[in-house]
Amino acid sequence: MANKTLNRFYKFISNDIGIDLGTANTLVYLRGQGIIINEPSVVAVNQKTGRVVAVGAQAKQMLGRTPSHIVAVKPLVEGVVSDFEVTEEMIAYLVNKAQASSKKFLGPRVVVGVPYGITNVETRAVRDATRNSGAREVHIVEEPMAAAIGIRLPVKDPVGSMIIDIGGGTSDIAVISLGGIVRAKTLKIAGDKLNLDIISYIRSEFKILIGEKTAEQIKMAIGSVIPSDTPLEASIKGRDLVTGLPREVIITDGDIREAISQSIDHLIESVKEVLETTPPEIVSDVMSRGVHVVGGGALIKGIGELLAEHIRIPVHIAEDPLTAVARGTGIILENLENFREILIQNEDELPPQK
Ligand code: ADP
Ligand code: MG
Repeated sequence: MANKTLNRFYKFISNDIGIDLGTANTLVYLRGQGIIINEPSVVAVNQKTGRVVAVGAQAKQMLGRTPSHIVAVKPLVEGVVSDFEVTEEMIAYLVNKAQASSKKFLGPRVVVGVPYGITNVETRAVRDATRNSGAREVHIVEEPMAAAIGIRLPVKDPVGSMIIDIGGGTSDIAVISLGGIVRAKTLKIAGDKLNLDIISYIRSEFKILIGEKTAEQIKMAIGSVIPSDTPLEASIKGRDLVTGLPREVIITDGDIREAISQSIDHLIESVKEVLETTPPEIVSDVMSRGVHVVGGGALIKGIGELLAEHIRIPVHIAEDPLTAVARGTGIILENLENFREILIQNEDELPPQK
């Protein structure tokens, strides 16, 4: 009871913020409001001064259009914090922006989702960076756990759930039960790799060079992993590798399927590997409850059917899969006490080791 009153008081004087620090997209959830920031995870840095000149969509816009001393940096590459200073700038920018919408007396409580398998050093860096941005409390959660909470899986119950998060830099496959990650695997085959697959396929099949942005657009427009009744087509413009001049070709969904098939096979194999090493009771839970897919890659056409066919377990594509982690951080914020045990413990708060 006292807790409830205290909670209401805190809500009045301070903001609670959830951050999904994705390799491709960074989202911010403001308690009471929902997702208020959804930006690419890109920071533009002036190399002469070392200063950050833009963050998010603005930074992405500058890619390839700026003087050479301004470079775009991705703070998280393949699920690893690649640049601590830039990560810190990114977090500070997000917290300030979230705060700006409704300034309160106290610094915010912040829940940050970090890639699964991140090292202690990296976790500490994220924690410190968040604290330096003015947070009163910092809580760190692994993204697969946050995503599972976001799509309302019963993570704390004695029942196994499997979640697959196909993001930009990495895909995480995790089995969760009793508030913990029982088995997991992270692989560097995700959205970015599919884009590169498409680039190299088009280079070798059509002798045309296209950029990553174009590859991503084609992937989203006509990418699929299962043939459909109505074939899809897209025209792409690139630089002819022989003449050096621009050229346009028509490619089909079949081309994209072929381009990405090896990566998709790897992904499916990894899911099988995780299932094979999962305790039998939990596998039987997963078989009856199905596997859940989140992240931008969940939107690849046919991915659910293809997976289900190979693992012989029902596959559910989450609704609004790109926001699952951010929504999860929001649910954790609403009920921090309830979720405390699933958070990554702060070493400073652990009892000294004997
Ligand atoms: P992260 O959590 O690593 O930031 P996201 O979950 O935000 O990643 O997913 C980003 C990835 O999802 C990108 O590689 C993007 O190309 C891909 N993606 C987004 N929408 C689609 C779509 N409709 N079809 C295929 N891939 C998509
Ligand atoms: Mg993610």
